[in-house]
Amino acid sequence: MNLETFKFDIDADGIAHAVFDVPGRSMNTLTGKAVADIIAITQEVATNDAIKGLVISSGKASGFCAGADLGEMGSRAGAGGEKKQKSEDELKKEQFEAGFSLNGTLRKLETCGKPVAVALNGLALGGGLEVALACHYRVAANDNPKLQFGLPEAKIGLLPGAGGTQRLPRLVGVQAALPLILQGESFSAEQAKAMGVVQELAPSSETVAKAKAWVKANPKAKAPWDEKGFKVPGGVPHKSPGVGQVATMANMMLASKTYGNYPAQKNILSCIYEGIQVPIDAGLRIETRYFINTQQRPEAKAMIRSLFLSMQELGKGANRPAGHPKTEFKKIAVIGAGLMGAGIAYVQAKAGIPTVLVDVSKEAAEKGKQYSVRLVEKDISRGKLSKEKGDALLALITPTDNYDDFKGADLVVEAVFENEELKAKITKAAEAVLGEDAVFGSNTSTLPITGLAKASVRPANFIGIHFFSPVERMGLVEIIMGKETSEATLAKSIDYVLAIRKTPIVVNDSRGFYTSRCFGTYTREGMEMLSEGIAPAIIENVGRQAGMPMGALEVSDSVGLDTALKVTRAMAEATGIDLQSDERTQFLAWLVEDQGRVGRKAGKGFYDYDEKGKPARLWPDINKQLTLKVEECPPALKKELTNRFLVRQAVEVARCFEEGVITDARDADIGSILAWGFAPFTGGCCSYIDLIWGIKPFVAEADRLADAYGDRFRPNALLRDMAAKGEGFYDRFPPAGTKAKVAA
Ligand code: NAD
Repeated sequence: MNLETFKFDIDADGIAHAVFDVPGRSMNTLTGKAVADIIAITQEVATNDAIKGLVISSGKASGFCAGADLGEMGSRAGAGGEKKQKSEDELKKEQFEAGFSLNGTLRKLETCGKPVAVALNGLALGGGLEVALACHYRVAANDNPKLQFGLPEAKIGLLPGAGGTQRLPRLVGVQAALPLILQGESFSAEQAKAMGVVQELAPSSETVAKAKAWVKANPKAKAPWDEKGFKVPGGVPHKSPGVGQVATMANMMLASKTYGNYPAQKNILSCIYEGIQVPIDAGLRIETRYFINTQQRPEAKAMIRSLFLSMQELGKGANRPAGHPKTEFKKIAVIGAGLMGAGIAYVQAKAGIPTVLVDVSKEAAEKGKQYSVRLVEKDISRGKLSKEKGDALLALITPTDNYDDFKGADLVVEAVFENEELKAKITKAAEAVLGEDAVFGSNTSTLPITGLAKASVRPANFIGIHFFSPVERMGLVEIIMGKETSEATLAKSIDYVLAIRKTPIVVNDSRGFYTSRCFGTYTREGMEMLSEGIAPAIIENVGRQAGMPMGALEVSDSVGLDTALKVTRAMAEATGIDLQSDERTQFLAWLVEDQGRVGRKAGKGFYDYDEKGKPARLWPDINKQLTLKVEECPPALKKELTNRFLVRQAVEVARCFEEGVITDARDADIGSILAWGFAPFTGGCCSYIDLIWGIKPFVAEADRLADAYGDRFRPNALLRDMAAKGEGFYDRFPPAGTKAKVAA
């Protein structure tokens, strides 16, 4: 056998040993070559009479296998541009054989008449776990705390396509398998043993020997589902009322959480429900059909590209300019210990970075530190953190009112009130004690960085480092380049964001930067709909059903209606709109100034809030001030409003590209999902245009909406040019390096 990804030998007892070891990689994945090797090994084991059984293990210290090679899959997904040329049927036919090859091979291995065992020393996810499930016996290491098992495919829009949806429910029962497959959460070796996913636990050094011993002792092994009279543990949905109810509930819960936007989850449910009723051979073919259907959906392509590939690339600092030494942070200062500063101090300390937290008084700074104390206490009480580690984390935060305390800091993040003069004062005071190389980052959410940098004596070291609230939960940081910001400063800032384990995107300076500017279009479209007389409940439900995390009016409440009024008035002034005749402004003014309904912070805005700050109901009296014209939402209206919400945001993203505010499609996609929750099943705003619509249909739809509702939807020259050339955003704005960003 000519194997590239496995080492293979046969011992004196006739037990073959296949060691999975993809060359040049720290972790095994199921590359095309690895699948070909598994096919060859299966053939050899099935046909070579000298082989009495097989043990599979891994040659990697990191684990057994992380699953399918999504890099290969993602590159097959295409870079975007035009939608697929072939018909669904042609693609299905072409892909069935390829899709079934590993599935069919694993089934051959399972039924080859010889015992097959696997030794799992570390992580086995997705396809890795599916290979293990096709073995008759699984031994897992009990001394590797990093070991995890799971079928995470659903998280990136796929379904397990190598037997996972058929073997796991047959092994642990439908009820236990459903959440594991639908949600894709991983589980430990101990949990696997308790559920019956593995049969034996042993120290890492002994797993192969244990697997061999089992193979020797069980020459006639069969999978449980190949034994006569096999019954699925707990029963099957169509025969057992209890399991039937579970399946019905799962369907309902899925619909209420995903609104049918995620084809993978829908297909997983159907695949389990249909596959569990028939013998496993038929079940596996059903699975392959659903797998192909799922994989061909634009949602899967978009989610793999953004949520897996781009996330991985940005998480490794893909935007970091080359040629600058990596910074190890010895000390970082945070100025302003309010909501944001307190959160920033916590994430720094959590990452092990000594942090100086400054405010106007020692008491104010100490109050900010208390935020970390509360988070640490919560983690300790939940058993997530030891008291010792919690104390060590808190000891890293030094609250102070003395700027001298942050002498020697590598970086400063300023998070004082949103006031240009105050920020200028802070910049001067900080720079007086900072070294020449220290970076000054501002967490401003609205003030242009180039303007703020005017107060700096070292504008090349001045940069925007924009966090999102709550800092400890939000994974994104938007880095904003001012006109004079240097590459060295950008490199250091990216090192910082990666050090605190967040994902950086890099954008150029402009009002609202990238995220605030585009996100604002969602809330404003909600306000437009309101002023057209569409009932608030329709606006909110359609927003959520479009895939946004909250309705547009609820988001406005969260931001603060007083802030929205301020911004609207400023925009009206800037654009010369007559405030007297602007209905939206008048309506907002009535809510804020007459009714005192400024949003969530006051417990009342568009919604009434309960004492925990959760929306209790839409405020019924809103209707007094509005003339409601639309109080029912038939499917055609739902589609229209959905497109208005999503297309409006995507058009704004295209404008940001044209103006050079953003220059890399990955930044735009990941930024839109992580910053403001743009419908994740679309892969983000660029992928929504590229893959969900296709560039030409998108431009046509935006034009139609512009004709119907106004020029805010009108495609810009960039979109028209891309449509004429059939280009997608990933063709036009591929991973750019940082030169363009610095120059733009
Ligand atoms: P906040 O009002 O909660 O906190 C501001 C803190 O700055 C207060 O503790 C105040 O005492 C302190 N401060 C004021 N003057 C100071 C001085 N001279 N020296 C030291 N400390 C001083 O405000 P916040 O919500 O944390 O926002 C801070 C910054 O972050 C603002 O620029 C804001 O635009 C930006 N931001 C806020 C959010 C958000 O969701 N709140 C999100 C992103 C960015």
